[in-house]
Amino acid sequence: RLESVEQAPPDPILGVSEAFKADTSDLKLNLGVGAYRTEELKPYVLSVVKKAERKIVDAGQNHEYLPIDGLASFNKATINLLLGFDHPAVKEGRVATIQSLSGTGSLRVGAQFINKCIPGKTVYLSNPTWGNHKGIFSNAGVKWEFYRYFDPETVGLDFDGLMEDIKNAPNESIIVLHGCAHNPTGVDPTKEQWSKIADLIVDKNHLPFFDVAYQGFASGSLDEDAYAPRYFVERGIEILVAQSYSKNLGLYGERVGALNFILSSSSAAKKVLSQLKVIARTIYSNPPTHGARIVSEVVGNEGMFGEWKQEMEGMAGRIKGVRQELQDHLERINPDKDWSFITKQIGMFSFTGLTSQQVENMTNKHHIYMTKDGRISLAGLSSSKAEYLAKAIDDSVRN
Ligand code: PMP
Repeated sequence: RLESVEQAPPDPILGVSEAFKADTSDLKLNLGVGAYRTEELKPYVLSVVKKAERKIVDAGQNHEYLPIDGLASFNKATINLLLGFDHPAVKEGRVATIQSLSGTGSLRVGAQFINKCIPGKTVYLSNPTWGNHKGIFSNAGVKWEFYRYFDPETVGLDFDGLMEDIKNAPNESIIVLHGCAHNPTGVDPTKEQWSKIADLIVDKNHLPFFDVAYQGFASGSLDEDAYAPRYFVERGIEILVAQSYSKNLGLYGERVGALNFILSSSSAAKKVLSQLKVIARTIYSNPPTHGARIVSEVVGNEGMFGEWKQEMEGMAGRIKGVRQELQDHLERINPDKDWSFITKQIGMFSFTGLTSQQVENMTNKHHIYMTKDGRISLAGLSSSKAEYLAKAIDDSVRN
């Protein structure tokens, strides 16, 4: 009966990991998925997470359902991390926060809210953007369009294109912005550019929807990486924010994150939260406990909070280190080309500019797995493999 069902294509990012698993070569390297690896290319469990888990087990917690909107102590911790501790918006009750299934689930609940409560709006996504954004909004029945973002000529931000497209969008559109460490390009607006984007968003009465998947993981500082959403709130702009603890606490599989609305009035926040709960209830009923307890323990304990910041700095530092090494190797192997973009980009990824044909060469000939758009995850690279990667890139760009 279901023979007529069409075969769906593999996921552009997670499909790369499946192909990697099937490769038997010793040389193979998975730079597809954005997951942090140690210098030995092993998954890393933060020591502060292990400590928090021990505390949770020792406390003999039960496995009852959480409320629909999640663990109250987690929700408090997550908004404190986002806005800074004791922010007036929280004190004034102008924030609606719901714990959700990591960044993806939080974006999806937000998308469904847009469809249900403010229908008819178009969502604007950067071109390019994280591969899942389009599907998240489409599958929630929300129309989306691109705004210009990346200029391949300068390997930098197409700021004029971005401003023109956001200006030409109908008033009160929803603009998705990456909070920091834009995925896949690693190119962020400067503070001055953020201020101009905010001016335009105010003029057009747009609603910004920040995707914050890398707070603390990009620069090593929680405050620095939250600059953009905090600045918008300071300007009195209402914003939506999806948060993820996959990268900064390494809680990928625990699915811990949150969706926040920072609004102008407590009555609006109350109504929004009531709708978010109805949406979550019908998708997954209530969120998982374990990851939320970890975040709440870590943020709520001064010692552990400090240790987390150090470990985050360590992870961000390792990525910055291999970024530099990759650039150094390429500059030595192929000095005719400008490779400076590698250390100009920030966060977990480098957008190499390799074409899909060159990416095929990387995989088929060199066993290096990466997404077809030319993105590599530097979190999956070790110092000892940096030269091998540089040689493979050099070979691929010459072909
Ligand atoms: N947004 C962006 C921009 C991302 O890069 C990611 C993770 N790759 C996510 C959201 C969500 O990931 P998760 O659902 O694991 O939190």
